[in-house]
Amino acid sequence: MFYFSKSKYCDFKQCPKIPWLKKYRPEEYVVDAATQARFTEGNEVGDLAMGLFGDFIEVTSLRADGSLDLGKMKRLTAQYIAEGREVICEAAFEHNGLYCAVDILKKNDDKYDIFEVKSSTSPDHPVYLLDTAYQRYVLEKCGVKVGKVCLVTVDNSYVFDGTLDLKKLFRITDVTELVGSRLSDVEGDLAAAEKVMRSFNEPPIGISEACNSPYMCPFFDYCTRNLPSPSVFDLYDFGYKKKLALYRRGVVSFEDVLRDGSGIDSEIRRRQVELTLSKEGPYIDREEIAEFLKTLTYPLYFLDFETVQPAVPRYIGTRPYSQIPVQYSLHILEENGTLRHLEFLGRPEEDPRRRLAERLISDIPEGVCVVAYNSAFERGRIRELAEAFPDLKDRLLGIAEHVKDLLDPFRKGYYYDSKMGGSFSIKSVLPAIYPNDPSLDYHSLEGVHNGEEAMTMFLRLPQFQGDARAKAEQDLLRYCELDTFAMVKVHAALIRSVRSS
Ligand code: SF4
Repeated sequence: MFYFSKSKYCDFKQCPKIPWLKKYRPEEYVVDAATQARFTEGNEVGDLAMGLFGDFIEVTSLRADGSLDLGKMKRLTAQYIAEGREVICEAAFEHNGLYCAVDILKKNDDKYDIFEVKSSTSPDHPVYLLDTAYQRYVLEKCGVKVGKVCLVTVDNSYVFDGTLDLKKLFRITDVTELVGSRLSDVEGDLAAAEKVMRSFNEPPIGISEACNSPYMCPFFDYCTRNLPSPSVFDLYDFGYKKKLALYRRGVVSFEDVLRDGSGIDSEIRRRQVELTLSKEGPYIDREEIAEFLKTLTYPLYFLDFETVQPAVPRYIGTRPYSQIPVQYSLHILEENGTLRHLEFLGRPEEDPRRRLAERLISDIPEGVCVVAYNSAFERGRIRELAEAFPDLKDRLLGIAEHVKDLLDPFRKGYYYDSKMGGSFSIKSVLPAIYPNDPSLDYHSLEGVHNGEEAMTMFLRLPQFQGDARAKAEQDLLRYCELDTFAMVKVHAALIRSVRSS
């Protein structure tokens, strides 16, 4: 029997090789922290949307080992439909090995309407129509009369007032007609998919637009494993389509890029390619770096925020996906080299913004020089705090006004090291400058190693008790502390680079 699901169908439509690799080379599947965070978010939104139409019955059934009991779910679904239940969630269907679970099935006279829940804020995504067309196909094959097909997405204009209003949080878009126009493709697609999936031979599909659309493919590293490293796909600030166009012309290695010339139309990219090939040390524009350093006046306040962006707003006055600062680290560097550290970590059980804003203005004196890495982010969060708390506005805006950006010397090309690999994030810059310093290695941290993990961990804090909670909080604090300590070290390296002339 050929088994397929709606997610495999969507994968197949992006690239037939994706479901094949998931089946035959699962170890090559790379899910980054951001994608994992999106999955978790999607589950939370899906659970909440079940209550959108009032009382409902949920079909989800688990086996003792925690896996889904699909047989039981199908039996329950059939039973609830026979009983004429109004709202059935996670309703499960199978036709000749084609499986699907419908997020919400709602009775509409003698038919059932399909509601597919997405944690996105927009219904305009090509995959959503594929997903719902597949569901409609399977349901009709199972003998269910389908009425409307709708997408349920998050309305980010909704402002939380303390009581969650699901009707306002979610936006329903009727896509029945659009789905109808895709329905005729499903059968042919499934026949093609069956052929691919039954073969033990990897589909001979090369790199294309599909690798980056609608999602970055989790098998990209696998499919580009035989390319030279670095390759045209590692060029800094060069869109995927442009990289692909060069690749298709046979411009693959950095040697090819240098020869061809069209991919190095910016000074930084030229530097990236030339320094990588020559294996020379970093390019340093001492004059420009010295000018930049003159704009920083001691004492320096190195600041970094961690934020959360919950799809379902939890603090009064916030919207879905509002950026909420919940934590900061502050290293204070005096001209004589003295370094102090201050930090703040809120509690997810209460809105942390007021306490954070108060602590920030108490920790950062008026008029001092604040240094951030990619300062637009920190400045933006401080301005939002100023809007939320008018009585603190002047002080907060005063801080925002004095934020300088430590990313500038790198983004503007004053300092480039080929070991940065075409990325100027602090996590690329730091190991390039300090390659053998374990105290600066994010991998050596416990529990939290990047912003996505920090966001997930903060929101999960209420699940931890006692020592486990204290440990989770410590992990968050140490992660954020390393972000600002890294800035202190990068600043020191810039000073050294100027003095070594
Ligand atoms: S990386 Fe590209 S070719 Fe490889 S499986 Fe993904 S989409 Fe297909």
